[in-house]
Amino acid sequence: MSFSNLGLADEILRAVTEQGYTTPTPIQAQAIPAVLAGGDLLAGAQTGTGKTAGFTLPILQRLSTAAAAPRTTTAARPIRALILTPTRELAAQVEESVRTYGKYLKLTSAVIFGGVGINPQIKLLKHGVDILVATPGRLLDHMQQGTVNLNQIEILILDEADRMLDMGFIRDIKRILAVLPKKRQNLLFSATFSDEIKALADGLLNSPAMIEVARRNSTVEIIAQKVHPVDRDRKHPMLAHLIKTNQWSQVLVFTRTKHGANKLVEQLEKDGITGMAIHGNKSQTARTKALSEFKEGSLQVLVATDIAARGIDIDQLPHVVNYDLPNVPEDYVHRIGRTGRAGATGEAVSLVCVDEHQMLRDIEKLIKRALPKEIIPGFEPDPNARAQPIQLRSGNVPGRRPQGRSGNGSSGSKPATGGGNARAPGAPRSGAPAKPFGGASSGKPSAPHRSGGRGR
Ligand code: AMP
Repeated sequence: MSFSNLGLADEILRAVTEQGYTTPTPIQAQAIPAVLAGGDLLAGAQTGTGKTAGFTLPILQRLSTAAAAPRTTTAARPIRALILTPTRELAAQVEESVRTYGKYLKLTSAVIFGGVGINPQIKLLKHGVDILVATPGRLLDHMQQGTVNLNQIEILILDEADRMLDMGFIRDIKRILAVLPKKRQNLLFSATFSDEIKALADGLLNSPAMIEVARRNSTVEIIAQKVHPVDRDRKHPMLAHLIKTNQWSQVLVFTRTKHGANKLVEQLEKDGITGMAIHGNKSQTARTKALSEFKEGSLQVLVATDIAARGIDIDQLPHVVNYDLPNVPEDYVHRIGRTGRAGATGEAVSLVCVDEHQMLRDIEKLIKRALPKEIIPGFEPDPNARAQPIQLRSGNVPGRRPQGRSGNGSSGSKPATGGGNARAPGAPRSGAPAKPFGGASSGKPSAPHRSGGRGR
C-alpha cells in the first residue's frame, strides 16, 4: 500500500513525500478513501496513529476539487471545513498539519483558541479562510460576537471527541452544531468509545463508515510499560535517579496537579536537571516555548498535566513517566500514547505509591493486563505504609470542566459554567491500607478511589 493508491492529488502526494512518509498508517489507509467517498466517518484512533493526516489529506483533496459556493466579490471567503479540537496545543498542531500537507494547494487555513488576543483572530476571520481549526470555547466567543460565519461549512471534524467530552465541552459542541448547515460531511475521531461518545455519534453521524485501528481502550503494544513501587515522598529522588542512571535525554513527565508540576520542576532543578512545566495556568507563550525547547532537545524534562499535554506531537519521544497516576484510567492510555509513535518503540514508567493502588487496579482493568512491577534498589517502599486520600486538583474543585474551559478553549472572559457533562470524580479515598502489588490482600480491602469511576 502506498499513498499514490489512495486517490490523492499530486500536490498532496508531493507534500506527503516531503514529510518523508512512504506508507500510509492503518488509519490513513482506511480513513482516506472513506472520507474521499464523501460519507460520514466514525474513527477509533488515538494520537500517534497518524490520524491527523488521516483526515487532513482527504479533506484538503475534497475542498480543492469541489468548488466553493459562489460568492460576491465583497463577501469574505467562506469557511468550508471546521476542525474542533479539545486543546490549544492540538489545535495548533492540526493547523500546522493542514498547512504542511496543503502547501501546494490554494486553500487557506487559520487556528483560533483561547488564552491569546481575540482581535488578530477577528481580522483573520473577516478575511475568510477555507479551513478553520478551533477549540470550542473560543469559537463560541466568536459566534457570540458575530465574528465568525459557519453557515457554509461542508465538512465538520471532531478530533479527540472523547477528550472534548471529558473536558465538559458537550454543550459548547451542541451550540456549535446548531448553527452549521444540515447537509455536511461529519468525521468523528475518538481514542475511546464511551456511551457518551456513542450518543454523540448517533446524533451527529449519518450511516458512518466505521474504522478502529487500536483495540478499544487498549494500550499500544509496542510501548514497554513498567510500574516502580515507591513511597509517596520518595518519588522525586526516584525520578532524578532514573533520569540520571538511564541518561534519559528527553522525558515527558505527568503530574496530577499544576502545583505538583511546578514543584517537581523546582526539585529537579536542584538536582541539575532542566525541566519546565506546562499546564493551564501557564501563558500560551510559556507553553509554546517549553514545548519547542523540549522538541528541539534543549530541554530535558517536560512536566505536564493531562490536559496541557493532550495532543502534544513529538516524534519518537522515548520516555514517558507517570509521576502520579491519572485520576481517570483512560488518561493512562492517552498519556503513554505520547511515546512509541508511528512505529517507534517507547517506554512508559509509572511511579506508584500506596495511595495509588486502586488507581493502578482501575488502569490494569481498563487495559486488560497487569503491568510489571519492578522495585528499584534503594527505593523499596515501606510495606506498612497506609494509603492517604489523593488530592485530585491543585484547586479545590475536582470537576474537569473548569480546567478545560479556562485552560484551553476559552478566552477566559467567561466564567466556567460547568457543562452538562462535567462530573466530579467523586469522593477521595479513605485512609484504609491498600492491597500490596501482585494481588495478595493485606487483610482489609482498600476503599474505592472513586466510586463508580466517572459514571461509566
Ligand atoms: P498523529 O496520530 O496524527 O498525531 O500522528 C503521529 C505522528 O506520526 C506525527 O508525528 C506524524 O508526523 C507521523 N506520521 C503521520 N503519518 C505518517 C506516515 N504515513 N508515516 C510516518 N509517519 C507518519
